[in-house]
Amino acid sequence: MTETLTDDYYQLRVPGPTPVPRRVVEAMATAMINHRGPAFAELIAECKAGLQWAFQTKNDALVFPASGTGGLEAAVQNLASPGEPAVFVTVGSFGDRFATIGEAYGARVIKLAYEWGQGAVAADVAKALDANPDVRAVFVTHNETSTGVTNPIAEIAREVKQRGRLIAVDGVSSVGSISLPTDELELDVVVSASQKGWMLPPGLAFITVSEAALERSKESRSPKFYFDFVREKNYEDKGQTLTTPAVSILQGMRESLKMMREEGLENVFQRHVDIARGVRAAVQALELQLLADPRYYSNTVTAVRAPHDDPDLNKRFTSTLRDKYKLEVAGGQGQLQGRIFRIGHLGDITREDARQIVARIEKCLVEVGYIDAPVGAVEALDAAMAESAAAPA
Ligand SMILES: *Cc1c(COP(=O)(O)O)cnc(C)c1O
Repeated sequence: MTETLTDDYYQLRVPGPTPVPRRVVEAMATAMINHRGPAFAELIAECKAGLQWAFQTKNDALVFPASGTGGLEAAVQNLASPGEPAVFVTVGSFGDRFATIGEAYGARVIKLAYEWGQGAVAADVAKALDANPDVRAVFVTHNETSTGVTNPIAEIAREVKQRGRLIAVDGVSSVGSISLPTDELELDVVVSASQKGWMLPPGLAFITVSEAALERSKESRSPKFYFDFVREKNYEDKGQTLTTPAVSILQGMRESLKMMREEGLENVFQRHVDIARGVRAAVQALELQLLADPRYYSNTVTAVRAPHDDPDLNKRFTSTLRDKYKLEVAGGQGQLQGRIFRIGHLGDITREDARQIVARIEKCLVEVGYIDAPVGAVEALDAAMAESAAAPA
């Protein structure tokens, strides 16, 4: 089981924050350093190189002290201008948030919204761009954490790039866990955050920026200072950051990147694929319904229709899981509140952790009377994980 500084029996399986390995916690318990000195320059250079590796890009990877939402706000500030049209593609609550930020900055938001559980359709994005030639940028979620959906980002990016527009991707809950080949897809801005797949505490936003994104930033008319890509890059080029950085998290990051390199990026991705397939098979063995359309299943978060029609009973299910079985899962957001629960399986998670999670959910379903007796959910998980490992994605 995962070694954390909390009770080793406790399973924190919300889709962020995720467990932080002991190695990383210990790396953070160290002396503070001057953020304008050579030790910091070395630290940030190492972290930025690791980010470029995991984001699969030669673009610069900027590091801001912020949560993921700060990263989304940065994307809007630098790529959108007040009064100008911009396309926002949304398949759930985080996509909606991206669009709301666009509105807050005065962009003329053209929203492509899909039913929750569905993925976006690339042809619709193409149509919206053809109908609106003055749109400069498309903002889209890669992995929608509220619904357990991964959008067909390669198809969407192809349509956007063929039309010469910019694309900004919310990869907060995917980068480092699900392959997102930034350069191959020519993604201009990709955002992630430390508390998702990176095995780190909350507090850092990571943002890759293409040359075109930097050029666009110089002429965008949105107000910006803290998140100004060009201003920040000028500092990072000198081994510093604009403001005081979250030094401790960066010290932990040095270690978490080392762990990811030891495992190998392809192996990290495959582990997420195997576990996700296993969890979905177990959920189906338990006769629960998955929310997502099978074409868009996410490999970092599984959204499950809750066992009851009654939101209060479902709340009791998740609190029993937490209090009695020491498994913390997330509830639904917005329109799905009380209707689904979400299992986060990203970052620091092993196949044995997945067995623990599934076994506890099964026991709890028996306890609340949804099933009469165990149905072999762990066996279903094991079989699917073995099959997945034998035929890698
Ligand atoms: C978690 C998450 C965010 C926002 O993250 P915060 O760190 O809470 O601001 C944005 N988008 C996606 C897809 C996420 O999973």
